Amino acid sequence: MRRHPGIGSYERDRMPGAIRRVSPASTIHRIIDIDPQVLVDQGKRLVLLDVDNTLLPWKSKEIPPDVAAWVERGRELGLQHCILSNTRHPERLEDLAGRLGIPFERAKFKPSREMYVAALERFHVKPEQAVMVGDQLFTDVLGANRSGIDAIWVQRLDRREFLGTKLFSRTLERLVGMMLSRWFVSADGQGTRSFLKSRVLGQLIRFAIVGAVCTVVDLGLHFWLLGRAQWGGMPLSHAIGGWVIDTLGLSWPKDPGHLIDAAWIPTKVGPVALAILTSYLLNFAWTFRDEKAKPSALQAGRFYLVALVGLLISTLVSFGIKRALTGSFERDFALASLVGMVAGFLWNFNGQRIFTFGAHRKP
Ligand SMILES: [Mg+2]
Repeated sequence: MRRHPGIGSYERDRMPGAIRRVSPASTIHRIIDIDPQVLVDQGKRLVLLDVDNTLLPWKSKEIPPDVAAWVERGRELGLQHCILSNTRHPERLEDLAGRLGIPFERAKFKPSREMYVAALERFHVKPEQAVMVGDQLFTDVLGANRSGIDAIWVQRLDRREFLGTKLFSRTLERLVGMMLSRWFVSADGQGTRSFLKSRVLGQLIRFAIVGAVCTVVDLGLHFWLLGRAQWGGMPLSHAIGGWVIDTLGLSWPKDPGHLIDAAWIPTKVGPVALAILTSYLLNFAWTFRDEKAKPSALQAGRFYLVALVGLLISTLVSFGIKRALTGSFERDFALASLVGMVAGFLWNFNGQRIFTFGAHRKP
């Protein structure tokens, strides 16, 4: 489905609170399609602007002439503008703002409220007199809503963007876009195609089912190897654990607890390898069957690579989140693990779909 629904607005009053937080007030194709006179009529005085993929393509330094003209037209009508950006390239931002003749706020990452609040204070404007224009739900729109400011969601200008945005935010945007479509009122009669019938959703669900099956294979086999399998009249885990302790010269006592600990990682390798192989075969034959990819050693290699990087990502993300949280151990552990799992899943799904099975990147 199209990630962005076209031109229209959302009935935010009817939404549950959680989803309202990421809902724009309205949507439009490009920033220049916004009529500054309409903003003025709505009582808006300040227009907050995202940079990449809103004002100009990602990393570009060329200001499209129609964008410059749009800013000028708003200015003539008495609107004030301010760029909000957490860029790591301040020189590009300064240059851009200088050429457009508008100031900027640069601070903590959106959706932090910091830049929004700073801009409101700078221009002595109330939240309801401001509007935010941006291309991302989880940064531009969420940050605006948290600050009590209406947001206009524009279609991204270019497919090229920061890899993290592409892999994580945009997939979540599709899912949230599906939920939001219930409250969408189309202004151009095109409406939204149902995400529920789209190919990507079918793939996403099948991928999740395959993931669950492979987790059972992994955990079941690991449990059997550690706890049930026998070798030469003794538990297999004791044989392997004893060998590991001797080979590495560990000073661990050879009681059942330490033998199992020593065997933990060696007995995990086989189940993980088998689970990924199962996952590859099922995803090839079932999840991504519509992509018509041909099986090959290269394809299988790519699948393993993406899966292992996914494992690394979920571990690092959960570690990073855990470090940033300061609540109780149980709550932090659960939250960090959940976010890590979601990040790993989104990476895996997109990586396997695009990199391994070569899904068309058509919407
Ligand atoms: Mg952007």
